[in-house]
Amino acid sequence: MVTTLSGIEELVWERLSLIPDPEIPVISILELGIVRDVHYDGEMLEIVITPTYTGCPALNLFVAEIKAAMHDQGFDQLKITTVYSPAWTTDLISPEAKAKLKRYGIAPPVKDAANDDPFAPAPNIPCPRCDSHKTTLVSQFGATACKSLYTCNDCKEPFEYFKHF
Ligand SMILES: [Zn+2]
Repeated sequence: MVTTLSGIEELVWERLSLIPDPEIPVISILELGIVRDVHYDGEMLEIVITPTYTGCPALNLFVAEIKAAMHDQGFDQLKITTVYSPAWTTDLISPEAKAKLKRYGIAPPVKDAANDDPFAPAPNIPCPRCDSHKTTLVSQFGATACKSLYTCNDCKEPFEYFKHF
């Protein structure tokens, strides 16, 4: 039986780690790095989130998922606070989550210091299946604006690349 406020906050973090990204179900919203803070004062539970890039999964989906999960946990007074600064970046995606993305067939974001424009083609994205660097950009936009479509010249498989921004 957890009775301390910080203990309850810990349980909330744990529960949040079980909520999958609505678009990429192999990673959780926690691994995606959108949850900034959790605060419980004994009555009101406040969860602070930062939206992902606007071309990425809709924020209202995350909010609906969080609300449903917290309601299930018995939190009736729930406040979701959205902060835009500091902005979310793909660097907030945990290394474990990047490995999961790759296993899922999506090339994780590659940091490219020479390229600040998220819409510019990223060079040399390794194939998530065979690690070949012989890949070709097919389309700047995949299923969503935050991903682009590549094809691997070695294993001939198409794959999505989660853009770095
Ligand atoms: Zn390949």
